[in-house]
Amino acid sequence: LSNSNGASVRRKMLAPKRRETPPSSEPESSDVRSTADETEDEDEDDENADVERIMSKLPKGIDPQSARQILNDIVVRGDEVHWEDIAGLDGAKKALKEAVVYPFLRPDLFSGLREPARGMLLFGPPGTGKTMLARAVATESKSTFFSVSASSLTSKWHGESEKLVRALFGLAKALAPSIIFVDEIDSLLSARSSGSEHEASRRSKTEFLIQWSDLQRAAAGREQSPRDKKEGDATRVLVLAATNMPWDIDEAARRRFVRRQYIPLPEHHVREQQIRTLLGHQHQELSDEDIQVLVHVTDGFSGSDITALAKDAAMGPLRNLGEALLHTPMDQIRPIRFEDFESSLYSIRPSVSPDGLRKYEEWAKEFGERG
Ligand code: ADP
Repeated sequence: LSNSNGASVRRKMLAPKRRETPPSSEPESSDVRSTADETEDEDEDDENADVERIMSKLPKGIDPQSARQILNDIVVRGDEVHWEDIAGLDGAKKALKEAVVYPFLRPDLFSGLREPARGMLLFGPPGTGKTMLARAVATESKSTFFSVSASSLTSKWHGESEKLVRALFGLAKALAPSIIFVDEIDSLLSARSSGSEHEASRRSKTEFLIQWSDLQRAAAGREQSPRDKKEGDATRVLVLAATNMPWDIDEAARRRFVRRQYIPLPEHHVREQQIRTLLGHQHQELSDEDIQVLVHVTDGFSGSDITALAKDAAMGPLRNLGEALLHTPMDQIRPIRFEDFESSLYSIRPSVSPDGLRKYEEWAKEFGERG
């Protein structure tokens, strides 16, 4: 297991496959495979073989059923994201390279004073590229990518939540280098309510914090005991978290994130870059002037709002066709025009209000790093 798996196995481990059904409600789902599943292509067979290989060498102390659930639902495969896919955010990219990518690739250089942080928080408005950044970090550092949300770590089965969280960290060490990406960390770290379902999320929160502290300890000690080493490489596991509501994270949890990186809305030149990329391979006739107008009117839009706008505008030429769409040859579809964007701007509006934005700016000033 661990590094002896080599990059090729990890590449395959990262091949496409995600399931939406939470296996917590269907504990044996991964064993009960439907005929449709079985006729899927060879990639899937390869992945299954990888999962089985990992399962057969599972380090002691990791619950096999939880491990299977993590491997099937939480380890993300395929759809690699590279730095150049992300418009702008140069400061954040630089910070992530220095804090994660280089230390993972050259652990020998990053010890002592250069010891990397074990946790990094990405915060900012929704749809600004936080998830994309986390995926790019995993791709560029050749890490196994564990994508977690509070609900994926909460099982309604008594005691299962802790097992899941332990399996998550256990596998992350065994398959190191690993990135544990927690989306909407605010909901994992602020389980305040009561009731049996919330009892489960409280348990997963507590276990998460314990496991995370262990990682931090292992990294600080650097010298791992032989037992630790057998379990994998705790020094090359990083918790990367994202939130749209940084103010909801309690102070103790906030302090654990030594690095807090603000991911702001895209500035003028970044919007231009993104719009040009989106239009890149399209049949369109927007002039430079049109693009400048779009860049101007999308002030306040997030990267995801801009993507939604371009997608909606791209539908313009088809919408005008009505039923004729069904038999019009491809080469007779008119190009996308500025007027398509104009119509789309009526329905696609920025998801963050100026007031909302101010709240992020203030939090960033007080607690964050910019970039
Ligand atoms: P977040 O995690 O911050 O909510 P995501 O990373 O999930 O946002 O981005 C959502 C979508 O918006 C992406 O899949 C992409 O299409 C688009 N997007 C957001 N930010 C950028 C960016 N900086 N560059 C390119 N596309 C972006």
